[in-house]
Amino acid sequence: MPRIYLSVPHMGESEARYVADAFASNWLSTVGPNLDAFERAFSERLGRPAVALGSGTAAMHLGLRLLGVGLGDEVLVSDLTFVASVNPIRYLGAEPAFIDSDRATWMMSPALLAEALEDRARRGRLPRAVVVVHLYGQCADLDPILDACRRHDVPVLEDAAEALGATYKGRPAGSFGAVSAFSFNGNKIITTTGGGMLVAERQDQVDRARFWSTQARDPGVAYSHTDMGYNYRLSNVLAGIGRGQLQVLDERVRQRRAVAFRYRDAFADLPGLELMPQAPYGLHTNWLSCFLVDEERLGATRDQLLAALAAEDVEARPVWKPMHLQPLYRECACQGGEVAADLYRRGICLPSSSSLSSPEQDRVIDLVRRAVRHANGQ
Ligand SMILES: *Cc1c(COP(=O)(O)O)cnc(C)c1O
Repeated sequence: MPRIYLSVPHMGESEARYVADAFASNWLSTVGPNLDAFERAFSERLGRPAVALGSGTAAMHLGLRLLGVGLGDEVLVSDLTFVASVNPIRYLGAEPAFIDSDRATWMMSPALLAEALEDRARRGRLPRAVVVVHLYGQCADLDPILDACRRHDVPVLEDAAEALGATYKGRPAGSFGAVSAFSFNGNKIITTTGGGMLVAERQDQVDRARFWSTQARDPGVAYSHTDMGYNYRLSNVLAGIGRGQLQVLDERVRQRRAVAFRYRDAFADLPGLELMPQAPYGLHTNWLSCFLVDEERLGATRDQLLAALAAEDVEARPVWKPMHLQPLYRECACQGGEVAADLYRRGICLPSSSSLSSPEQDRVIDLVRRAVRHANGQ
């Protein structure tokens, strides 16, 4: 039986044609019509200007720099996330401090964020920015988070790397904060094999990021530099993939949601195996199908499920390891942390590709059910 992966690329019909156009026209580098069209289509979807970059991590880095994050600053960020939400804070010489999850959503707890901000306001040392992560295809509860940040005049960066296509109260993820970052890594809901997008409230911010992304070369033919830049621009070849992928995004969202709800229905009779919360305030893309194991009620542990799937060549993963438990960030401040640690201990991500076939999904379901029976001595 072929291996089943967690989340694989899923091309539509026009990606190869846009890539072929790039070859035919010899626009093979960091300028060209695919880049323009990809940014334009993305901007229209988000309702904000956008710049295409080499990765989501690069978008985080430039986004934080746009917010003025620098040496010695503090940045508050979700505890439960992928490390790329946090590393760019350190790239800029700033220190992250983590905010635990809300059990009702798995996202940053608005109450703990408000507490952390009050605490810092009392000490007269507010953070430079707040990074709120939208996990696994669902938005954090943005209204109370944005309220708390507005009260203290602290800007928000949305890490929407996992949430392209999600909405909050009818508006797209990534259209709320001062800046936001998206990823087109190979495992995300759409991919350019590797890539990212930075979206900002204002055109001048996006122009500045685009300038930084191409080595910040001053106008003119001389190689003159006043500001420090990076080599972060997406290529016109890969932007061709992105153009095609964006056309099938809504279909991919439907397919990912169908996968998640099929698992949920198939496990409905198993007590103690629950799909991650689907918050009522928006559309959850269910980029990954995540479940929480209650080992008492299920009679099996999360690790027993992981082992049973691995033994049959099915790729499943624990939920993200919280940042406060990472050797890299162990010394950093953390508001709470127990909820994220518990989700990490009991959460499992099942194969979630939009191209997952029904027979493949049946195989995963069957393996999970068998592992549960086996753990219960049946
Ligand atoms: C994937 C991801 C990133 C980084 O995106 P890359 O394109 O892989 O650099 C950042 N934050 C989160 C939450 C992610 O899942």
